[in-house]
Amino acid sequence: MFDSLTQRLGGVLSSLRSRGKISSADVENTCQEIHQALLEADVALVVVNEFIELIRQRSLDALPTLQSGTNQAQVIFEIINAALIEILGSQARRVRFAKQGPTVVILAGLQGAGKTTLAGKLAKFYKDQGDTPILVASDLQRPNAVTQLQVVGQSIGVPVFAPEPGNGVGNAVAVAQDGVAFARSKQHNMVIVDTAGRLGVDATLMKEAIAIRDAVNPDEILFVVDAMIGQDAVRTAQAFLDGVGFDGVVLTKMDGDARGGAALSIAHITKRPIMFASTGEKVSDFDIFYPERMASRILGMGDVATLAEQAKRAFDPESSAKLESKFASGEDFTLEDFLEQLQAMSKMGSMSKMLGMLPGAASMKKQIDNFDGSELIRTQAIVQSMTKAERQDPKILNGSRRTRIANGAGRAVSEVNSLVERFSQAQKMMKQMRKGGVPQGMPPALAGMGAGMARPSAGKPIQKKKSKSGNPAKRAAQERG
Ligand code: GDP
Repeated sequence: MFDSLTQRLGGVLSSLRSRGKISSADVENTCQEIHQALLEADVALVVVNEFIELIRQRSLDALPTLQSGTNQAQVIFEIINAALIEILGSQARRVRFAKQGPTVVILAGLQGAGKTTLAGKLAKFYKDQGDTPILVASDLQRPNAVTQLQVVGQSIGVPVFAPEPGNGVGNAVAVAQDGVAFARSKQHNMVIVDTAGRLGVDATLMKEAIAIRDAVNPDEILFVVDAMIGQDAVRTAQAFLDGVGFDGVVLTKMDGDARGGAALSIAHITKRPIMFASTGEKVSDFDIFYPERMASRILGMGDVATLAEQAKRAFDPESSAKLESKFASGEDFTLEDFLEQLQAMSKMGSMSKMLGMLPGAASMKKQIDNFDGSELIRTQAIVQSMTKAERQDPKILNGSRRTRIANGAGRAVSEVNSLVERFSQAQKMMKQMRKGGVPQGMPPALAGMGAGMARPSAGKPIQKKKSKSGNPAKRAAQERG
C-alpha cells in the first residue's frame, strides 16, 4: 500500500534525522521534497499546497522553541504526522444508525469500483457485530450484478432482496423501495442497496441514483471509489457530490499499487470522511478507515494497531492463556500448540498483508511480495497427519512414521523432515526466550514453518552440513547445490 510514497518520505525523514540541529533551511528542503513526493503520488495539487503550507508554518513556528539536545527531527516528524492525519480526515467514522430502523445505506459509484463486492463486505462486517443486514439488488444494469450479489449474500448468510433479473431488465427504484419495505416487515435493522454504475459519470446514472435516494431516504450514501485511479477519483467524487451527494467515502483496491493520490486528496477536497477501506477481493479484506493508522503506514511506522486487532480476533483467548501458562511453567512448546497457532494464523488472512503492516515493511517489500502463503496450508496438512503422540514428542518420528505422514499429507518426506527440523529450532527459541535471552528471528509459528521467505524450495531435502569432498568436481557440484 502506497509503497513508493512511503519509501520517498522515509528517505526525506531519515535525512532530517541525520541532522542534530534543524534550521529553517532544513525545513524548506524537507517541505520541497515532501511536495515532490506527494505530486509523484498523484495527490491533488491544491491538497499538496495546503499540506506543505501547514507543515512549513508549524515547523518554522516550532523551531525557536526547540532546545538543543532535544530530538528536533522527531518534533518535525510529529508535525508531519499530525498534518497527514488531518488531511486524511482526522477521525474514523462508522455508519450512523437510524433511531428507528432499518438503517438504509446506498452504495454509489462507477461501474467496477467494487460496490457489489463491498455490499457483501459491509453486510458481513455488521452481521458479525450482531446487526441483521439485508442486501438489495438495485444494480440492474451491469451484467451479472444481481447474481453476484446473490452469491456473495449466500456465502455470508445474509438475505438478498432481488426480485428482478437485472442485465438491463427491471426498475431499480422500485426494487430499492420494495427492498426497504421488505426489510422493515422482516425487522432487519440494516438495508444495503447496491446501485448501478456506468463506465463514466453520465446523466442517466446520476438520475437513477437520485431517484433511488429520493425513494428510500437513506441514512447514509457511501461513495465507492477505486483508489488506483488516483486523482481521477477526486474528479469522479466531485461529480457524485454535485449530483446525488454522499455522506462518506469507501476506498477500494487499496491492496493494489495505488500511489496514494485518491486517499490523500479525497477527504480534504470533498469534506466527507473516508469511512472504510477495501483491501482485496475476499469478504474479509475490509476494514474501518482510521486516518491515524493510515498516516502511520504512510510514514513507515506500520499499522500495529490493526495487526493486533486481527490477531485478537483470530486467536482464541482460552488457548492463548493456556499456551502462556504452559510457557511460564517451563513446559515444552509442542507440535500440538504449533498447529493451534497455525490455524489461528490462517484465520488472520493473507500473510503478505500482515507483514506489510509491520513498521519498516516498505523496505522489505520484495521479500514480503515473495512470501509464499501456501506454505502455511502445507505445513498444517503435515502436522494434521501426525498422531497426537507424535505431535507431543516429535523425537519418536522415525523414518517409517515420516513416510506415513508425508503420504497422509500428500507431501514429500523431505518436507516432513524440514518441518520437524525447523520446529525443533523454534522449540529451542522458546526455551531461549524463557531463559530471558533475546530470540533471533521470527515468532515460533513463523520460524517453525520457515516463514516462507527463506525456506528451501518445496520438495528439496534439508541438507545436513556435509564435509567438503576431496574430489574437485564433486566439491564444485556440492557448492553449486
Ligand atoms: P461494481 O461494478 O462497482 O459492483 O464492482 P464489483 O464489486 O463487481 O468489483 C469489480 C472488480 O473489482 C471485481 O473483480 C472485484 O473482485 C474487484 N474488487 C472489488 N474490491 C476489490 C478490492 O478491494 N481489491 C481488489 N484487488 N479487487 C477488488
